[in-house]
Amino acid sequence: MSTENSVKIAVVGAGAAGCYLAQALQRSLSAAEIVIFDRYASPFGLIRYGVAADHQHTKAITRQFERMFRSPDIRFAGGVHIGEGAEAQLSVNDLAAQFDAVVLATGRYEDRPLGVLGEELQGVFGAGAITRRLNSAPNATQALDELGDEIVIVGAGNVAMDVLRFLAKPASLYAGSDIDDEALEEYARGPAKRVTVLSRSSAAKSAFDPQMLKEIIDLDSVHLTAYGVESPDGDIDARGSARLELVGSGNGSSGGSHDVQVDLHFGAEPVELLGDARVTGVALVRQSERVIIDATSVITAIGFELGDTRLVSAAWSSEESTDASVFEPSDSGKVAPGVYRTGWLKRGATGGVPENRACAKSVAAEIEADLQSGELAPRSDKAGWVGLPADVRELAVSYSDWLRLDEHERAGAGAERVRRKVKTAQDMIRVARGASS
Ligand SMILES: Cc1cc2nc3c(=O)[nH]c(=O)nc-3n(C[C@H](O)[C@H](O)[C@H](O)COP(=O)(O)OP(=O)(O)OC[C@H]3O[C@@H](n4cnc5c(N)ncnc54)[C@H](O)[C@@H]3O)c2cc1C
Repeated sequence: MSTENSVKIAVVGAGAAGCYLAQALQRSLSAAEIVIFDRYASPFGLIRYGVAADHQHTKAITRQFERMFRSPDIRFAGGVHIGEGAEAQLSVNDLAAQFDAVVLATGRYEDRPLGVLGEELQGVFGAGAITRRLNSAPNATQALDELGDEIVIVGAGNVAMDVLRFLAKPASLYAGSDIDDEALEEYARGPAKRVTVLSRSSAAKSAFDPQMLKEIIDLDSVHLTAYGVESPDGDIDARGSARLELVGSGNGSSGGSHDVQVDLHFGAEPVELLGDARVTGVALVRQSERVIIDATSVITAIGFELGDTRLVSAAWSSEESTDASVFEPSDSGKVAPGVYRTGWLKRGATGGVPENRACAKSVAAEIEADLQSGELAPRSDKAGWVGLPADVRELAVSYSDWLRLDEHERAGAGAERVRRKVKTAQDMIRVARGASS
């Protein structure tokens, strides 16, 4: 249990990075008060709202945080938005007034814009908006019945593969997942006949994990054709060879019912989205040749960027900062005296869940070093949790409240699902605090 002289640390964001950070600090600091804030009533960030619903083995990573959250030194404070806007309950400065250190672990969740002509056309969607809807993220509204049957995915990383798998996978194969049933039904009304994936890189050097493509090739519903495979660039590592082999093995392979034609284009640079009001095609350049691909919709899966930058700019500077460089990835987690960052917010939107562990450990080590050097010293005028406004403390969702919501979601799942998520931030708080629905 913390004492008056123990260091008080606020962590903003209960995703993988925030959880690993708190775990690392708990292990290394014998007496510390650690409060993990999240804007939602649930912890786990993108493990809950990004990782695909049919990859429950990945979502099970959250189990390793259970012991930490049950410890008396760690407090989960859900449903508390930290920032500067109208929806925020507290600012970073409010936290800095009561905690010796504030660690930002708020991730990056906005879809990165493609930056080509036609991006604003109707029928162009970000992969984040689609995956949030499939994961019943709070207030996700992306309709899935307007995708049409000729869908182009721009990008070929693992998020693109998650989207492709969803588009190609029969609804009947979602047993044991927590997919959003309404979203699945919406899509099933008019599923894709053809999905085209555009990768700027060669087949060997594309960003997807070979296992991700294998899972798609193994679906009976998929018939795969690859274009532009013949131009490997530079040295190819083992994963590159595995990618090439898979693309080759899948090429022209005949599945069972051939429900979905999947076209993979490598070395393909999208240069323009075509259409008047709504997108009708994608112009790409491959080996100096302009190619047009028809599209009823386009899904961009080219990475993520910061959402609301006001949280971060407030932490970097007391004045309003407009300097984009402060949002750049950095080796150090230190942002300003007593303010640190970790996870996707620190490194950029790269790396899977486990990669946040090493990142969090290195930031925890920076905090410890600052404590040892005296640069960061526990101050008696910092009251930690009890110093925060009473109304915020009363309304915050505790870890045991979250367990109530968790239980509610599991109990409400049908026979084919592992959970049915409560879908608005307000309802999540109500259920967590004991309302029946
Ligand atoms: C679609 C998708 C699929 C993925 N699939 C996989 C996968 O299969 N396997 C894998 O290993 N990795 C996967 N990843 C990557 C993985 O999700 C990230 O590595 C990881 O989530 C990054 O952790 P983080 O804590 O930095 O960010 P996040 O997980 O985004 O956590 C940030 C947390 O901060 C909270 N927050 C944000 N702003 C505020 C605020 N102002 N106040 C309070 N709280 C706030 C958010 O609610 C969230 O809980 C996927 C990512 C995406 C986007």
